[in-house]
Parts: sequence; structure tokens; C-alpha cells
Amino acid sequence: MNIDTSKPVMVTGATGYVAGWIIKRLLDEGLTVHATLRDSGNEKKRAHLDLVAKDAPGTIHYFDADLLDDGAFADAMAGCSIVFHTASPFVVDVKDPQRDLVDPALLGTRNVLNQVNKTPSVERVVLTSSVAAIYGDNADVENTANGKFTEEEWNTTSSLDHQAYSYSKKLAEEEAWKINKQQDRWRLVCINPALVIGPGLNPRGTSESFRLIKQLGNGTMAAGAPRWAFGLVDVRDVAEAHLKAAFLPDAQGRHIIFAESKDFLEMGQLLRPHFPKYPLPRFGLPKPMAWLFGPFANKSLTRRIVTRNVGVPFRADNSKGIRELGMRYRPAEESLREFFQQLIDAGRLKKR
Ligand code: NAP
Repeated sequence: MNIDTSKPVMVTGATGYVAGWIIKRLLDEGLTVHATLRDSGNEKKRAHLDLVAKDAPGTIHYFDADLLDDGAFADAMAGCSIVFHTASPFVVDVKDPQRDLVDPALLGTRNVLNQVNKTPSVERVVLTSSVAAIYGDNADVENTANGKFTEEEWNTTSSLDHQAYSYSKKLAEEEAWKINKQQDRWRLVCINPALVIGPGLNPRGTSESFRLIKQLGNGTMAAGAPRWAFGLVDVRDVAEAHLKAAFLPDAQGRHIIFAESKDFLEMGQLLRPHFPKYPLPRFGLPKPMAWLFGPFANKSLTRRIVTRNVGVPFRADNSKGIRELGMRYRPAEESLREFFQQLIDAGRLKKR
């Protein structure tokens, strides 16, 4: 991969879990990174980036920018050749899905890409989309042509009332393609990762990924784990996919990015031999029990979500990323183990 280090590149949402590893990789390549965040004065939130930048050949510059502020990305984008747009809230439990998820995802994408249209130096945009833009529930696989999700599919089942995070990602990616198709100067390349796991550069990360894996070890699933399957991918592999999307001359379109599919019980089974003192799940929660009690245990686990996901395999085709981006994946067991260990080391999990 030939990386031109003569022009800066921009990364939105620099404090985020996924962005951290992308920035580390860019700095290691010797690039100048224009990192946008909401509060550059908060040194604690960017301490892990400062640390990485100290030992890397590249240079980092911070810029304040909120997704909802029109024109906020102008200064950070000036002179950049590539824009990595990662910023978007990844939380499931929100009060107001329109305000807390859809607005920052959709209006933020529009704001960033309108600025790209005004910034002649930008040649390529790499958008951190998600498999959530491709499907809403595991049961949606019934509607696919070949019994697997591919880059051809779009999520048609999520809404403000059901899987609102997935809905926000689908609206954002659709908008990105719409804006991209109205011009021919810059190329859009999308990375569509499944559930991202693995140690964060910042061990106190707040991405939903941390909350989900923490639930495996804090006793929430000790009485039984819902057999809800996800594609899993290491955060370092997701960062690699972004670099390939940015610097491989022929990278184009969308890319489903994941290594393996596992449900919560299978994740617990992979972790148990390494962490015998933690209350990892030993049994699957029968689907009728998950349906009946899920909403009481966790208000995001609605009966519709249980019906359409629990006990339904996750089937998706990751071959385009392997073929066109040359992706190689860490095994899920390694990523899970290192992630779980990080939660312990950071004091975020207690022994039973
Ligand atoms: P994260 O750690 O919560 O990062 C989200 C980032 O978005 C944070 O830096 C956050 O900034 C920023 N952000 C949120 N609202 C903003 C606003 N109004 N203005 C400016 N910045 C805002 O989550 P993540 O897991 O790294 O997610 C990063 C991207 O990857 C998202 O686009 C997500 O949809 C995508 N993704 C994640 C996964 C996964 O499993 N983690 C899977 C597929 C795709 P603050 O720090 O200021 O809040």
C-alpha cells in the first residue's frame, strides 16, 4: 500500500474507540492527522492520543467540531486529502432516538460531506458505516437472495421505534451515497464493520462495545445468555480496513468487515477457560424466557428484538473485504480475551 504523507488527513470523532486505532495507524505511517473532537480542552479524553503521538513519526493537531454545527469542520478539513468520518453515537439505550441518534448520524454526515464538497484538496472519504446499514435484525436474512447479507442489501426493517441505532446508520450511509453521486471529484468508500471488540487505546472507552462485553462478565448473564449472534471483528482490524479503504487506489463501494459469528453463550464459552473467577454465562437462556423476561432485565431487549434475533443465526458474506482490501482477521477468541482482560485491568469488572 503506497501512502502519500505529504498532505494531512482528517479523522472525525477522534476520542472514539474505533477512531483511536485508526489515528494510531495513521501516525505510525508518518501522516499529519487533523483530529476533530467535541472538547479539545478535555486533556483526559485525549490523553491516549497524546501518548501515541509522542512516540510516532506522524503529528496530530486537534480541532473542535460538533456534528450538528454547520461549517464546524472547515478548519480541520482545509488542505486534507482524505477524510475519515467515524463520529456517530454508538449507544443503544437513549431517551430520544431522533435527537440522540438520528440527528447526529444523518445531519452530521451531511455537514461533513457538504464541507468535503467545499474543500478541493479532498480526494477520498472513508465512512465508518456499519453492518447495521445493511440489516436490522438477524431474521432479515430471509429476504436476501443467497441466504446471507451482502454489500447489495440495505436495512429496511429498522425505525425510530425498533433498532434506532441501526436506523441512524442506514440513513447516514444512504445520505453519504446520495451526496457522493451528485459530484465526481471525491470517491466514497464505506467500511461496514459488525460488532467491534478488542482492547481500546483508551481503556475507559464508552462505546457500546465495552458495555456489551462487560455484560458477559458482570453477572448479567450468569443465569443464562440470550443466544443472540453477532459478527465479531477486532478494533485493530477495523482500523486496518479504514487504511486500506483510504490508500488502495482501487478500493470502492461498501465492505462488510467481520471475522466470525458468535452468540453471547459462545462468547462466554470462549472466555471461561481464561477467566474462571468471573461469572461468565454457562447456559443459554431459552428463547421463551428471553422473550418473557428480557424487557424487564434490559429495556433495549424488546420482545420484537428477541423474536427476530435470538436463536436466529447471523449470516453475512465478508469475502469482498478479503478479496479487495486484502483483509486478514484476528480470531474472535483472541480479541475477546484481550478485551476482557483490559476491562479487568481498568477495574471495570469484579471477580465473583
Ligand atoms: P464511540 O467510542 O462512542 O465513538 C463515537 C464518537 O462519535 C465519539 O468520538 C463521540 O465523541 C463522537 N460523537 C458523538 N456525537 C457527536 C457529536 N454530536 N459531535 C461530534 N462528535 C460526536 O463509538 P465507536 O464504537 O468508536 O463508534 C465509532 C463509529 O464506528 C460510529 O460511526 C459507529 O456507528 C461505528 N461502528 C461501531 C461499531 C462497534 O461495534 N463499536 C460497529 C460498527 C460501526 P465524544 O467522545 O465527544 O462523545
